[in-house]
Amino acid sequence: MARWRELARRVGMKVNELCRVEGYRVIWLETPAARAGERSVYLSAGVHGDEPGATSGLLKWAEANEAVLKAGAFLIFPCLNPVGLVANTRVDGRGLDLNRRFHVEDDPVCGAWRKVMQGRRVKVGVCLHEDYDAQGIYVYELSWLPKGWSGEVLRRIATQRLPVEGRRRIEGRAAEGGVIQRRRIPEGLPGMPEAIALYDMGCGVSLTFETPSEFALDYRVKAQAAFLKVVVGMARGW
Ligand SMILES: [Zn+2]
Repeated sequence: MARWRELARRVGMKVNELCRVEGYRVIWLETPAARAGERSVYLSAGVHGDEPGATSGLLKWAEANEAVLKAGAFLIFPCLNPVGLVANTRVDGRGLDLNRRFHVEDDPVCGAWRKVMQGRRVKVGVCLHEDYDAQGIYVYELSWLPKGWSGEVLRRIATQRLPVEGRRRIEGRAAEGGVIQRRRIPEGLPGMPEAIALYDMGCGVSLTFETPSEFALDYRVKAQAAFLKVVVGMARGW
């Protein structure tokens, strides 16, 4: 959080308090262009606390891209589940999976999030995660584009140490080349994930990126930052 505040000061981002959870401040940041109402790129990590590659990767990318942050419209949620991050648990301090609660208006975190997001114009949404079952990187993409973004992004960032996930089914969904793409919001969900709530609010491309949590943390952090670099570049002209 100290590093986020330092960075925010350097690039002119506003630090806002979303809520407080068990003594932790949950913050979100916005750049001046996002504040002025420009269509924004949304970046989020740490909804699941046991996925530190995501929270560290987002910070790594942000610290290496100050000029991009200064010029662009960004909304950033660096860690929506600080209690989980400290305790290394998927769930929050109440034992709840936040990523099934983005429809809940009276949830202290997700309800506050819904208020902040109401009426905002988000063109690209990125939710960063990690997966214990994964053997490589993969993306869950919600978009209407005939050819999604994810295949190209994965090709550009895959390495020998962190290859593209080869499974044809990931969590029950058909995947190809590490990409699961959906145009419509799936029915019968057990609860509302952040990425689907964003898409439901009109975000054109919603990407959930996953790194394999059993691999070395350093490679995962680098892959998360590399993913953001490519996606933000693609979002610029879109
Ligand atoms: Zn996750």
